[in-house]
Amino acid sequence: MKLIVGNQKTTLNRDAVLKFIDEVNLNGVNDVVICPSYPYIEIYNSKSKFVVGAQNVSEKGNGATTGEVSAEQLNSFNVKYCIVGHSERRKDQKENGEMLYNKIVNLLEFNIKPIFCVGEVLEEKENGVTKDVIGKQILEVFDKLDVNKLNDIIIAYEPVWAIGTGLTPTNDEIEDTTHYIKDLVNDKYNVNISVLYGGSVSKKNVDELNQIDIVDGYLIGGASTKADEFNYIMESNV
Ligand code: PEP
Repeated sequence: MKLIVGNQKTTLNRDAVLKFIDEVNLNGVNDVVICPSYPYIEIYNSKSKFVVGAQNVSEKGNGATTGEVSAEQLNSFNVKYCIVGHSERRKDQKENGEMLYNKIVNLLEFNIKPIFCVGEVLEEKENGVTKDVIGKQILEVFDKLDVNKLNDIIIAYEPVWAIGTGLTPTNDEIEDTTHYIKDLVNDKYNVNISVLYGGSVSKKNVDELNQIDIVDGYLIGGASTKADEFNYIMESNV
């Protein structure tokens, strides 16, 4: 069974979150992760069976960091996973390798699993440098981390051009890139890392994507905000 992680971004207001929780059906599947905006974490904890994740964490610990949320605070709300380095934040908040390393260290200290996003933009895909880009994104962070902690990290391969566009790589391309990521981490650190695919996963393509055995799960944006889409993805995964 694949790990399903929903990234709801800032899509839903409070009423829409409650409606989604009412309509969603996890089909008895345990360990389905939802990453809502911070204000809704408690709602998901109290009203749903989702495992709760976060979309971001502070680079720093508790203290004088107005507007941030620390790993310790997330942990105190029973948050088990946290997305790190989503392409929207790499672009808009200029998150770089050092910042992502700091976030991961903080999360691991509080037993929250980082879901570390990597992926190429369209121009990089067209120039045939997808693996170079992804390899650099992984190594600039992993090289500095304690090798014994790498097992607790999940990598999400998210081609930037596939996010929110309805476009996806072919199954062969996803399989090839996932192999590359797993082999890179295995060869360099002797760790078997889990890899999720993310980018326009929906009820239209999930049955086909499910055929890629090497992919350990999905990071799902838009389709994780619509109960009918999410229910279908769950059912196809049972
Ligand atoms: C994402 O933003 O992580 C994502 C995968 O979005 P979408 O599923 O909407 O492409």
